[in-house]
Amino acid sequence: VAKREGGGRARLFRREMAEELLARQRDKRDLRAAIGTEQLVLHYQPIVDLTSSAVSGAEALVRWQRPGRGLLPPQEFIGLAEETGLIVPLGAQVLTAACAQAVRWRGEGRSLDVTVNVSTRQLSAPGFLPSLGRALEATALPPDGLTIEVTESVWADEAAMRALMAVRETGVRVALDDFGTGYSSLSYLHRYPFDVVKIDKSFTRALGDTGRTAGVVRCIIDLAEVLGAVTVAEGIETREQADWLRRAGCGYAQGFLFGRPEPAKGWDSLPSRN
Ligand code: C2E
Ligand code: MG
Ligand code: MG
Ligand code: MG
Repeated sequence: VAKREGGGRARLFRREMAEELLARQRDKRDLRAAIGTEQLVLHYQPIVDLTSSAVSGAEALVRWQRPGRGLLPPQEFIGLAEETGLIVPLGAQVLTAACAQAVRWRGEGRSLDVTVNVSTRQLSAPGFLPSLGRALEATALPPDGLTIEVTESVWADEAAMRALMAVRETGVRVALDDFGTGYSSLSYLHRYPFDVVKIDKSFTRALGDTGRTAGVVRCIIDLAEVLGAVTVAEGIETREQADWLRRAGCGYAQGFLFGRPEPAKGWDSLPSRN
């Protein structure tokens, strides 16, 4: 009896594996088909200058309007896109769309810096620089209107690091996202220039907990200043967090307190600097 049950379990396991594999193939096929279409949509979250309270920029965050499945958050498909290499055409589409939106805002007299997430895998692909150049050229966005965001995983990838330094030469700004959650190394930070350091929301969330967190965040802000970078704190949900960060010298902030990511349409009534 035990043996028969064991065999049943093994069969069930094999079936689950097969189903997972099929689902993955389906996801991959659907994602490939979605790229280049309006199924990929960008939402924009305001980045606020903590001193003046003005909206200074917007982070573009991709979503997948997948037929029959609703609006999927990036966690549900960016991983797959990275593993399959689809992040390259997906990322190119996002870059062009975000640059185009920045130009549209400029046309309305609002100078909003637009920030775009770029995966390490995307950055290390040979065509990244040309595709960035094409996005800027096609939209006529000046390079200093764009910031690209990378995570600390770039440091483990030589080709990505080389591309990143070349990006910076063009005048496009570079932000280090989720700072403090990955492979932070003072030696890398010291050696490679970044324009923006984004303080991860796990720090923001823990600010009220202990004096320890507050101390660490103060150090990050001071360190960024020494290195000539501005700081953006992520995940601000309360007025207390915003006030504390402003007093600690953090330049910018982003979070539900100021606005959730939403389609550019929702920005029409939002005030901004200028
Ligand atoms: P991220 O770059 O760290 O972006 C910030 C994430 O925090 C966003 O999640 C945003 O909606 C969320 N967030 C903002 N304010 C708050 C807040 O006050 N509280 C909380 N709890 N969350 C807040 P989202 O849009 O789901 O994006 C998740 C991640 O997906 C991003 O993290 C980014 O790493 C990645 N991602 C998004 N768009 C792209 C893209 O176009 N390309 C690539 N490669 N990755 C992307
Ligand atoms: Mg980001
Ligand atoms: Mg990011
Ligand atoms: Mg982040």
